[in-house]
Amino acid sequence: MWYNGRMIDLHIHSNRSDGSDTPEEIVRKGAALGLRAMALTDHDTVRGSLEFLETARNLGVETVPAVELSVRFESGEVHVLGYGIDPRNPDLTAGLEFFRSARLDRNRKMVEQLARVGYPVTFDEVVACAGDPELVGRPHFAEALRRRGYVKTTAEAFDRLIGDHGPGYVPRRFMDAAEGVRLVREAGGIPVWAHPRLGFSNDSIVKILGKLVPKGLAGLEAYHAEHTPRKREDVAAIARGRGLLVTGGTDYHGKLKPGLALGTGFGDLSVPDELWDSLRSSMKSAK
Ligand code: AMP
Ligand code: ZN
Ligand code: FE
Ligand code: FE
Repeated sequence: MWYNGRMIDLHIHSNRSDGSDTPEEIVRKGAALGLRAMALTDHDTVRGSLEFLETARNLGVETVPAVELSVRFESGEVHVLGYGIDPRNPDLTAGLEFFRSARLDRNRKMVEQLARVGYPVTFDEVVACAGDPELVGRPHFAEALRRRGYVKTTAEAFDRLIGDHGPGYVPRRFMDAAEGVRLVREAGGIPVWAHPRLGFSNDSIVKILGKLVPKGLAGLEAYHAEHTPRKREDVAAIARGRGLLVTGGTDYHGKLKPGLALGTGFGDLSVPDELWDSLRSSMKSAK
């Protein structure tokens, strides 16, 4: 796609969730790339937003505080981006606490479950793999199981023990998609469905929009590193046909998603900054 404007990246993870770069490093890298606007969209947390906004102020990059919520639609997992949320909003704080305690409870239960099926690891061992008790997820369980010598690789840990149907897996309590959308709205933000073509067909996207747009969903992330060019076009067309916002970003995770670069994804992504102008006007009218 030929585009005469500047590029933006509205989907970025820092080391406050499961990326490797600090929020400050991300802003510096984005500024060096000449990005016009960036959004920090850590999973279920806004811990990095202050550092992100502060750094950007001195570097001339436009930024917006944001978040990516993992929520449930029927039996599937949907990710909802919230742009322009107020990181200090009490409803948001309470909502994010739900995610925090759901993860913590799940992790404690997985320690018990793994012992029950014959693969004991301690919670401390798992935390040591994550570096921060707030950040523990299944990849760290996989690493702890590997260090104990139960499995040779992370992939084997998922295949044999902690994959979605594995004997050592415990699901966490999920929030409904509609509730996630409402939470973003309550916090003054604009809810956008992240990477909808990872896991859903065009037809099911249209059906789900029928449920979530009335709840306040405002846009679709069409431009995503892992959407093929065809999927990007399809999602943009679905959004535009319904007067919804179109957004885009790489889903950068630093070293933790090797080969995926800030701003350009796998090399073929270029998110036009006209999308930022539309999102920004929506954010202004939401205030
Ligand atoms: P959690 O949110 O703690 O349940 O962990 C989910 C994370 O585990 C995902 O974001 C993936 O990074 C990773 N994961 C899930 N399934 C697999 C799998 N089959 N192989 C490798 N990694 C996986
Ligand atoms: Zn992530
Ligand atoms: Fe996501
Ligand atoms: Fe993401």
